Amino acid sequence: MDHLRTGIGMTSQRTRNRLVQRLRESGIKDERVLEVIASTPRHLFVDEALAHRAYEDTALPIGNGQTISQPYTVARMTEVLLAAGPLDKVLEIGTGSGYQTAVLSPLVGRLFSVERIEPLQHKAAARLKELGYRNLHLKLSDGTWGWPEFGPYDGILAAAAPENVPDSLLQQLADGGRLILPVGTEEQKLVLITRHGDHFTRKTLESVRFVPFLPGVQR
Ligand code: SAH
Repeated sequence: MDHLRTGIGMTSQRTRNRLVQRLRESGIKDERVLEVIASTPRHLFVDEALAHRAYEDTALPIGNGQTISQPYTVARMTEVLLAAGPLDKVLEIGTGSGYQTAVLSPLVGRLFSVERIEPLQHKAAARLKELGYRNLHLKLSDGTWGWPEFGPYDGILAAAAPENVPDSLLQQLADGGRLILPVGTEEQKLVLITRHGDHFTRKTLESVRFVPFLPGVQR
C-alpha cells in the first residue's frame, strides 16, 4: 500500500506526465490546467484497488453508483471555465471524489462545492483536507438550489447532467459569469452559458457521458 502513496510504478510522475501528453494530443491547450493535472495525485481519489488505473484517461467507480470524472473532461471543463479570465468565486455541483475540486482549487480564488450523497461528501472533505487544499468550502447539499449564501459566482461547473439547466444556477451567475455543465439524458452535450446582465448566451460543445443530476440529499 505504501508504494501507492509514495508514487512509485503506476502512480509515478512519469505515468502522470503520460496522461498530460495524452490530454495535449486530445486538444487541451491551457498550460495552467495541464500543469495542475500533472501535479494532482488522482490515485488518492480512488480506491486503492483501482489506483493502478488512476492515470488512464477514463472515468472510474467511486462507490454509491458514482464515478470520478474522466481526466479529459475535467481538463476540458476547467479550460473552458477559465478561458475568459481569472475567476474569483466558483461553485461546483457534484464534489464526488473531490478530484475536479482539487484541479480547480489552485486555479480560482475561492471554491464552493456541494455533493448530495453523504458518504461521498464526507470522504471527499476528509481527503481534500488531508491533502492541504485551503480555499474550499464544502457542503452536503442538493445543488439544484446552488449555494445562494455565497453567490453570485464568476464560474459554476456541474459534474452531473440535468435534463434542463436549473434556474437557480443561472440566477447565481455573476454578470459576465460562466456556467459549464453537461445537459441531457441519453444524449448529453457539454453546454457553456454566459451571463450578460439579464441575458444569457448558450454554446453547445462536445458530446459527453455523465451521471444524472439528481434531486435531494442521500444519507
Ligand atoms: N467531479 C467529480 C464527479 C463525480 S460524479 C469527480 O471527479 O469525482 C458526479 C457527482 O455529482 C456524484 O457524486 C453525484 O452524487 C453528484 N450529484 C448529482 N446530482 C447532484 C445534485 N443535485 N447536487 C449535488 N451533487 C449532485
